[in-house]
Amino acid sequence: MIPFNKPHLTGKEAHYIYDAVRSGKISGNGKYTKLCHEFFEDKYNYQKCLLTTSCTDALEMASILIDIQPGDEVIMPSYTFVSTANAFILRGAVIKFVDSRKDHPGIDESKIEELINDKTKAIIPVHYAGVACDMDIIMDIAKKHNLFVIEDAAQAIDNYFIDKNGIKKPLGSIGHLAAFSFHETKNIISGEGGMLVINDERFIERAEIIWEKGTNRSAFFRGEVDKYGWVDVGSSFLPSDIIAAFLYAQLEELSIIQNRRIEIWKIYYDGLKDWATKNDVKLPSLPKFSTNNAHMFYMVFESIDERNKIINKLKAKNILSVFHYLSLHKSPFYKSKHDGRTLENSDNYSDRLLRLPFYVELTNPEIDTIIQVIKS
Ligand SMILES: *Cc1c(COP(=O)(O)O)cnc(C)c1O
Repeated sequence: MIPFNKPHLTGKEAHYIYDAVRSGKISGNGKYTKLCHEFFEDKYNYQKCLLTTSCTDALEMASILIDIQPGDEVIMPSYTFVSTANAFILRGAVIKFVDSRKDHPGIDESKIEELINDKTKAIIPVHYAGVACDMDIIMDIAKKHNLFVIEDAAQAIDNYFIDKNGIKKPLGSIGHLAAFSFHETKNIISGEGGMLVINDERFIERAEIIWEKGTNRSAFFRGEVDKYGWVDVGSSFLPSDIIAAFLYAQLEELSIIQNRRIEIWKIYYDGLKDWATKNDVKLPSLPKFSTNNAHMFYMVFESIDERNKIINKLKAKNILSVFHYLSLHKSPFYKSKHDGRTLENSDNYSDRLLRLPFYVELTNPEIDTIIQVIKS
């Protein structure tokens, strides 16, 4: 049996959790939380990081931080996970869904500006499969119309946007805010887990308060105020230090994990390239403005039937492949609220995209087997 995903362990997770437990301080914002924050801030030059219990939580924090009010409009792709939308819906926002690019499931940057009006507050690009959206275009539009940009970087750890001057910028460092996920299906994991990145200084102080249930407790522990109390809205967004200890063990081996994932991605790509061209199947296309963090390997078929045929064929050999998002504008929850525009590419990816097994322990012979079954 080859599963679709298998959580990778570095071996140090239990050791660091034991250390955290023995230290007697296992609530949030402890030693391992700080080590994780430092790691990300050093490696990717993020202004400020706050671990959260999920990417969903980080997106909800972002929604509070940009002060979404009922009736505000937020622009995002339809081809994404529900949390991208839910975080803003919870605060009363109206979602304007955008189609995907023809060559890639990411947001079609050329269809954003026509949706902007007086009520528009933010653009939420989703770096699908970890692949960068064209952040030059998106940041220009946002600047021109005075909008916030929140990167849904759930899948985008350790990946880079290459801007128009050829400068490599870590994903998550470009928008005003960004949200990452450490869910067990992502490259770097802590079971459930996430992180809010704050790149705009205006949000830093308030983000810490919202993170700590609306109190200025973080400032208190740094000795900046002499007592702490309730100063704003907030919730319990910070994870226990047990989760952070697990995550830190993963971060120490980030480059090993990433190297193996990139290797797997290349074996799939090289093994399927000629066959795909001959059979009108599309393999992932990397725009020139994105590097590859090998979050997933997907194929896009000519029809839903062809895709399902391959899913079944693989399943018959005990190999689990899966499709992905169903367009959010057609979901039972949102279809009556959507403004009626057809989003053809998004629907096509819902019907035709297939993801292959992808995890660090996947062996080269297993990948070969998968490729041979597909080709047959
Ligand atoms: C995984 C994912 C999320 C949700 O992450 P959680 O940590 O499970 O909350 C949100 N958006 C995208 C694009 C994702 O892939």
